[in-house]
Amino acid sequence: MYDHDLLVVGSANADLVIGVERRPGAGETVLGSDLAVHPGGKGANQAVAAARLGARTALLARVGDDAHGRLLLDSQRAAGVDTAGVLVGGAPTGVALITVDPSGDNSIVVSPGANGRLTPEDVRAAAGVLHASRVVSAQLEIPLETVVEVVRNLAPDCRFVLNPSPPRPLPQEVLAACDPLIVNEHEAKVILGDALVGDRPEDWARTLLAKGPRSVVVTLGAEGSLVASSEGVTRVPSVKVAAVDTTGAGDAFTAALACRIGAGASLEEAASYASRVGAAAVTRPGAQESFPTATEVEALCCASPGGNPRTPGRGSGNASGTAHGGGSC
Ligand code: ADP
Repeated sequence: MYDHDLLVVGSANADLVIGVERRPGAGETVLGSDLAVHPGGKGANQAVAAARLGARTALLARVGDDAHGRLLLDSQRAAGVDTAGVLVGGAPTGVALITVDPSGDNSIVVSPGANGRLTPEDVRAAAGVLHASRVVSAQLEIPLETVVEVVRNLAPDCRFVLNPSPPRPLPQEVLAACDPLIVNEHEAKVILGDALVGDRPEDWARTLLAKGPRSVVVTLGAEGSLVASSEGVTRVPSVKVAAVDTTGAGDAFTAALACRIGAGASLEEAASYASRVGAAAVTRPGAQESFPTATEVEALCCASPGGNPRTPGRGSGNASGTAHGGGSC
């Protein structure tokens, strides 16, 4: 019996966003809008996305003993995430300083802060939580050696899901544990490096699979995704929606896919469900605020690819946006 459907090991950042008429050059000061502070970071995003879908979710992360850390803990708890594994202190909470100009282009400076202090030792100390989780997911906004330690501490029947973002070459030990490795087009190219052949995502999926993962998913934005395993490469379409903001779509997709494979779905079924979750997320602004409940995902079920663009209303889910708003993933 598992305590958690999904354990996310990863980053938690405060996103500090200011709108500007234009971004400053060197030595220049410009005035901007009021500051908006949002909970973010790929690990925190994935955990919120999974919990909102109804999965029993835990987060292993590190935040600072400061207001940003408390904001992140609050947003996790509000979504229903078990935060017992969120370590506090050692450095300030990770921060992303984001300026956005009127065209929507942004410039971002990230201070990893406490994320950089999530150590292999922290993972070893959390071995009990790792062993009590059906699926474990990670990203690369924490030290790579910490992700390596996660892989070394997985229970034999645990599924490991990795979204290597920001991308960097991966050791064979990590690649071999991924089931699946989930990459967008940019991440696929970086992970493939010199092994990149062809310009079709199908080629990348096959070449990535040959590098060692048990399975691979390549996400293609509005085009959906490709699923690759020993059984071949399959294209999974997305749902046609009116996209407003694609921030966090990949995190929502990864969390949903991880939940579904933990519930026993095939990779293809899980990618199909995750496509609906990703599509729902892009219909609303922001990252964590945009993630749907299971009920809202169901509302997208009838929208076939190529059908009418749809925008799932918040009204069909539970009002707080927390888990248990209907069925679960
Ligand atoms: P990332 O955010 O990591 O770059 P993608 O942009 O590929 O990832 O998005 C992840 C998934 O979210 C896609 O595979 C798709 O299912 C869904 N998605 C993203 N953008 C759209 C869109 N404009 N319309 C419908 N679905 C989308």
